[in-house]
Order: sequence, then C-alpha cells, then structure tokens
Amino acid sequence: MRRKLAAGNWKMNGTSADLAQIEALAEKHTGALSEIMIATPDTLLHRASAFTKSGPITLGAQNCHKNETGAHTGDVSAEMLLDAGASYVILGHSERRADHDEHDEDVRAKARAALKAGLRVIICMGEELQEREADNTLDIIGGQLAGSIPDDISGETLVIAYEPIWAIGTGKVPSIAQISEVHDFIRIRLEQRFGPQIARSIRLLYGGSVKPTNAAEIFAVQNVDGALVGGASLKAADFGPIIEALDAS
Ligand code: PEP
Repeated sequence: MRRKLAAGNWKMNGTSADLAQIEALAEKHTGALSEIMIATPDTLLHRASAFTKSGPITLGAQNCHKNETGAHTGDVSAEMLLDAGASYVILGHSERRADHDEHDEDVRAKARAALKAGLRVIICMGEELQEREADNTLDIIGGQLAGSIPDDISGETLVIAYEPIWAIGTGKVPSIAQISEVHDFIRIRLEQRFGPQIARSIRLLYGGSVKPTNAAEIFAVQNVDGALVGGASLKAADFGPIIEALDAS
C-alpha cells in the first residue's frame, strides 16, 4: 500500500517569517493520513525542523551535489541536507534542467548520491508544450525515466513527479485523461524495469498548477499518489485544503 504524499516545493521563496506557515500546517494536520513534505530553501531547513520533529511534516531540499564533499563552491551535498533536517530531495525539476543545464545523467548521479546518503528522492520529469502538441509526450517521459533513475533503487525511497513543463506556474492543467495516460505509462515502464513489487511501491505524483479547486479531481486518478505543489504550497491556507483533498481520496 503506497502512502499518499503531498509535497510542497517552495523554490526560491521563504525567509524566517514564513516558518509560521509550516508551524500552522503542523498544528492543523496532526492526524493527516497522507505524508506531508515541504521542500524549503536550504537556508530554512534547520529552523523548520523545530516544527517537524514529532508532527506529520517531513522536510526536503530542492537539489544536491553528486559528490559527497570537495571543492564545489556554493554547492551542498546530500549528507549536509540530511544533517540540516531534510528527509527528501527534489531532483531534476524542469527549472533546474533549464537554469543549470541539468540532464538526465546529472539527475541520475545526484539521485545515487542522495540515496547513498539516506535521503529519499523525488525525481521530476515532464514534456514541453511543443512536445505535447507533437504527440511526443510518452517518448519524452520514457527517455527521462530510463535516463534519470538509477538502477539500484528500492520502491520506498523513490518518488516520481510527472510535471508537464507547460503546466508549472501557468494555471494550465492537462486533462484528467492526459494525466491518467502518463501515470499509467510510468507505472508500466517501472514494472518492466524493476519488476512489479518495486514498481508498485513507487509513488507517482502529479505536479503543475495543483490548487485547492482542482486537487480532488486529480487525486481521483488511479495512479496518482499525491502531488508536487509549487505556488499553492507557500501558504498553509492553500496547501491545507490540498492535503485534505488527498486524505479524502
Ligand atoms: C513545481 O514547480 O513543481 C510546480 C508544480 O509549481 P506550481 O504548482 O506552481 O505549478
């Protein structure tokens, strides 16, 4: 049985004052059935962990280096993130692929480092609008799956987020049929590569303009095990109803 996951990605947003949002979520959702994860900026991880020690919330980071230590000015290793309070790291987000020229092989190397350090990984993938319009979505996702996931994974430590790039931060959302098609495809590809037992324990999140108003409909899709939420995860008043919709699904 896969535990549902409501994952928030704060991106480059949040200072000390925003820790109150995590505190509010932790207080309100003590009895949540779903797992709740918030990927804060690294600067907030340690302080945020004060609100997550015994509650329903776990913390995550948004990137890590592929090496354990060394001369990499400005970078942070998986072990450092774990030490600061993270349990998860988001890897391969389309914004990192675009802004930092990250490719599948980089994502795979970072995932290996993160898993070795003891973090769980959320690997993101998704197609551009032109790729969707050219009917290439499944080829793109198939390539990203093959290229960015390491071979030696266990189901519980890997989460995959399907995030159509054209849906991120735009308010546009694929149809339920489109979400369902991609999630089913991912599950089948995972079964072919890792076997049914591991494949069935990997959680598949949908990400891209998830809001309190569309969450329930998306969570009703069979192979959707939760969401990766950007903008609507910044405020407890928005993220809370999404968590409730996931609990109710
Ligand atoms: C994201 O960046 O992972 C994301 C899904 O953003 P938003 O929810 O704002 O579309």
